[in-house]
Amino acid sequence: MSKMLEGKVALVTGGSRGIGAAIARALAKDGADVAISYASAKDRAGSVVAELKALGVRAKAFQADQGKTAEVGNLIAAVGSHFGRVDILVNNAGVLVLGEVHDRANNLTEFDRMFDINVRGVAAAVRAVAPLMTDGGRIISIGSVVGESTPFAGAADYSGTKAALLGLTRGWARDLGPKGITVNAVQPGPIDTDMNPSENGEFSDTQKSLTALGRFGTAEEVAAAVTFLASPSASYITGSTITVDGGFNA
Ligand code: NAP
Repeated sequence: MSKMLEGKVALVTGGSRGIGAAIARALAKDGADVAISYASAKDRAGSVVAELKALGVRAKAFQADQGKTAEVGNLIAAVGSHFGRVDILVNNAGVLVLGEVHDRANNLTEFDRMFDINVRGVAAAVRAVAPLMTDGGRIISIGSVVGESTPFAGAADYSGTKAALLGLTRGWARDLGPKGITVNAVQPGPIDTDMNPSENGEFSDTQKSLTALGRFGTAEEVAAAVTFLASPSASYITGSTITVDGGFNA
């Protein structure tokens, strides 16, 4: 029996670990050929690629700093040239830097770097990929619940990057709708990864207590929403956001 995404090519940025690696695995299980990008974890990216190939799909890892526009453009071109097409772009690579606005250690250099990676790099990727995508194309960006509400101090800059993605998602849906390309976001709540470990003292306890389910989510629970949006079943969903947060924003 043919799989849902057979014949499709997906690029998952930041696919070497965490949520991105889980998304890459889930897309491959559904039959898509998968490219992943990474910043520096070459060995981990190589292990993910080996897992993807073991699922019977084509897979390749590309080093590209999401915070550098030229590297993002080269990444999309390299994926297009290696696989012959790009049907699904998952903008997952992201960084989190916490710090309160009045804290002297919290400076604008970190603010700029976070916006460069979490927002500007995504805008560069969408600009580069849109001309390569055809009818049925899918663009999915990983936002965050804190793009919608910020229930603790120290996350303003990060929240700002994720809120920006929501506005861009709605606008890009309008721009690319006539080409038959859908553009959506998935906003996770607390997910157990290197970025946000589930056992991290007061910070993780606070996050758990803010969810209705009383626990962190898994990367696979986020990946399930991404594969749904990438699938033919989601053909009439665009400009939308799916929240996967255990009730954090309920
Ligand atoms: P993670 O475990 O820290 O993994 C981050 C991934 O992004 C890695 O593959 C990393 O590559 C890559 N990356 C980081 N900076 C990059 C750059 N400059 N260029 C290219 N790739 C870069 O993070 P995660 O928790 O899986 O988060 C994935 C996404 O979900 C992010 O956008 C994050 O904001 C969002 N999110 C996470 C949570 C959570 O609770 N974990 C909640 C809401 C939203 P290397 O391995 O090479 O460093």
